[in-house]
Amino acid sequence: MASLSLQHITKRYPNGFEAVKDFNLEIADKEFIIFVGPSGCGKSTTLRMIAGLEEISDGTLKIDDKVVNDVEPKDRDIAMVFQNYALYPHMTVYDNMAFGLKLRKVPKDQIDKQVKEAAKILDLEKLLDRKPKALSGGQRQRVAMGRAIVRDPKVFLMDEPLSNLDAKLRVQMRTEISKLHERLGATIIYVTHDQTEAMTLGTRIVVMKDGVVQQVDTPQNLYNAPGNLFVAGFIGSPQMNFLDAKVKVNGNDVTLTVGKYNMKLPASKAKAVIDGGYDGKTVVMGIRPENVHDSQMFIETSKDSVVECKINVYELLGAEVYLYFDCEGFPMTARVDPRTTARSGDTVKFALDMEKVHLFDKETEITIT
Ligand code: ATP
Repeated sequence: MASLSLQHITKRYPNGFEAVKDFNLEIADKEFIIFVGPSGCGKSTTLRMIAGLEEISDGTLKIDDKVVNDVEPKDRDIAMVFQNYALYPHMTVYDNMAFGLKLRKVPKDQIDKQVKEAAKILDLEKLLDRKPKALSGGQRQRVAMGRAIVRDPKVFLMDEPLSNLDAKLRVQMRTEISKLHERLGATIIYVTHDQTEAMTLGTRIVVMKDGVVQQVDTPQNLYNAPGNLFVAGFIGSPQMNFLDAKVKVNGNDVTLTVGKYNMKLPASKAKAVIDGGYDGKTVVMGIRPENVHDSQMFIETSKDSVVECKINVYELLGAEVYLYFDCEGFPMTARVDPRTTARSGDTVKFALDMEKVHLFDKETEITIT
């Protein structure tokens, strides 16, 4: 398998538009890297540059220490799986998977061995004689994967491979891909705009916005320590709540004022605010829905950060309940225990767990703490 190095990679389209700006990333052998971000942020363009399907305007791309900017796609030893599978309709599953190997003049018995191995891994053994039109979406997707696997490439590139599947199948295939990664020990770069897919599959995630890398980190670090407001809002569902808060510093104490509420910031968070010179300034306070509690126990122990608000919407999801409400003009969501007695229209007390708040500079949107 392979390592990749992307150094100052930039894509400028002929109309002058910069779709990818100064992209830097070192990818180690066997990593499962995810490119995630909203539509149009440059994920596919970056992937296509790695595949050689798109010219690199500036920067250097290395695979295993070899510069490949000008190497033909077919000579990069990369297999790409697209969202629209691109199977040959007139060929059987077996032939679809064998096709690339035949072109490379691999001996017939070797082809047979590799196709059958891939079919076993992907549970396609019973479908080898079928044509694509006689397959379900998930089965077609597995054939597309199979076609990539049989080539035993250095790197797998996957561009939203699950986006055409229904929700249930997506979850199934997600697990399959995860197992596949372990089994093949392959380097995989995977594009998605679905943050759940990103969080569950990736060993590291690259969050992009407007052609610019926002943060590269493990799923857990992205969730617990987002580097800026965009990442904080993009990773996590339902998304992090954001409220404007006025800072008041008094010695070593920091109070955040949101509308009529004054909330004390724990010492562990206060230092960064004081050192950053935020006294008297407005910052953005972020708190995840699971850190907004309606239980009596939390409310009693967090007297400094209790708000009282009217619930607009109650949403039961089986194992959890989302309560949507307004706090001093800011829309909020609480993710609470399904045994809650709170319902739409009720006025309820919520305790914000101040140990878990994130603070962002309102101008630069960069994380303060
Ligand atoms: P999606 O999730 O919607 O596929 P993406 O993050 O993969 O989005 P890209 O397909 O990489 O986005 O496109 C990045 C940007 O480059 C978009 O704003 C797109 O409109 C623009 N773009 C793509 N191809 C061209 C082109 N040939 N000429 C000019 N701009 C282009």
